[in-house]
Amino acid sequence: MGYVQDVLEQVKQACADQPEFVQAVTEILEAMEPVIAKHPEYEAAGILERFVEPERSLIFKVPWLDDNGKVQVNRGYRVQCNSAIGPYKGGIRFHPSVNLSVMKFLAIEQTLKNSLTGLPMGGGKGGSDFDPRGKSDNEVMKFCQSYITEAYRILGANTDVPAGDIGVGAREVGYFFGQFKRITNSFEGVFTGKGATFGGSLARPEATGYGVMYFAEEMLKAQNDSLQGKTIAASGYGNVGTFMIEKANQMGAKVVTIGDENGYVYDPDGISGEKLDFLKPLWTTYRRPAKDFADKFNLQWIPGKRPWEVSCDIAIPTATQNEVGKEDAERLIANGCKCVVEAANMPCSLEAVTLFQKNNVLFGPAKAANAGGVSVSGLEMSQNSMRYSWTFEEVDAKLKDIMVNIYKKSSEAAKEYGLEGNLVAGANIAGFLKVAEAMRAQGAV
Ligand code: GLU
Repeated sequence: MGYVQDVLEQVKQACADQPEFVQAVTEILEAMEPVIAKHPEYEAAGILERFVEPERSLIFKVPWLDDNGKVQVNRGYRVQCNSAIGPYKGGIRFHPSVNLSVMKFLAIEQTLKNSLTGLPMGGGKGGSDFDPRGKSDNEVMKFCQSYITEAYRILGANTDVPAGDIGVGAREVGYFFGQFKRITNSFEGVFTGKGATFGGSLARPEATGYGVMYFAEEMLKAQNDSLQGKTIAASGYGNVGTFMIEKANQMGAKVVTIGDENGYVYDPDGISGEKLDFLKPLWTTYRRPAKDFADKFNLQWIPGKRPWEVSCDIAIPTATQNEVGKEDAERLIANGCKCVVEAANMPCSLEAVTLFQKNNVLFGPAKAANAGGVSVSGLEMSQNSMRYSWTFEEVDAKLKDIMVNIYKKSSEAAKEYGLEGNLVAGANIAGFLKVAEAMRAQGAV
């Protein structure tokens, strides 16, 4: 076997109990064959086996008191994957599905995503199996404070800078920041996605969703097409989904579905106006189910199903990993879907991605398409360092530039390595090359 396959086999054996991590590594390493062929020095320097091993993983107890005065315990994580090109950077996820495998997959994806942004950020990810649904504000605050009371030891503006992810938004980041400031007696840019009154960047809430649509626009432009008049199917309606819908509307497209694990809402007219206003805080503030949206506006609710069965031009999964499987992909293709853009992290299974590629469905991988959020996080770090803040328009223009550039880098890398049109390979290669060069230059650390 060759070097790439050897490393993949080692990961499969050593991490057999970490299916999400193995899935992410498989996708990444499969894109590495032409890179290693062109750069034998990476094998000599052991870059791949070092790249797939997180630099550090902290697993810790998070005890907290619920509103009845009862002690609850959850498990907290922070995986510091790679710091070759900058301080560890990546969100914190609160969801019952969080475990070491999920954290490691998100952290390695984040490493390549952050590299693609062109900003100096390494990759990390954190989280807990804490379920924020049904928790009071007081309980969420106590939980966030307890999480930081442990995690603060390995965080810092020049060391590791977390942000939000599923179940963690501006409210939680505010509680993290307050507790970190209190423990360390320092006011530093150690989190991004902060409130605008204490160093948060304008356009950070919008950034991931807007960025997805800027990226989608580039994908279609390359085919002499545009978003005008396109019908989009989406799933999650949190921070990413709702701002993706807002930008899609501005670009002349319409989004006809949102959903959760219990079913989906079908709105053939497209979600806009007062419907979008209602939807925006439904998950991010109230953590309420998707059915509330159907009930409020008398829309069709399809229980127990995923949105990937409707007829659409573009599918944009906005919820979570592996929400689009093989059968969903088959159905989307049969129903005429021509483009899939991953807004969540790794929402399509490996089989689904292969099916899309075989059937000439344009495919935008997460680490490129959803990099807008962490890009504006990087801009938040810059603004904090300067003790200055840019206007919404300035940040949005920089975000757009970054997304256009990520598309360009990914499609050019695919072409250069003989895989023209394959953005999965292109994004992995372009993201990896910068990290690999930095690792090589820094020696065997
Ligand atoms: N959680 C987001 C992501 O998956 C943003 C991370 C950040 O801003 O650090 O990219």
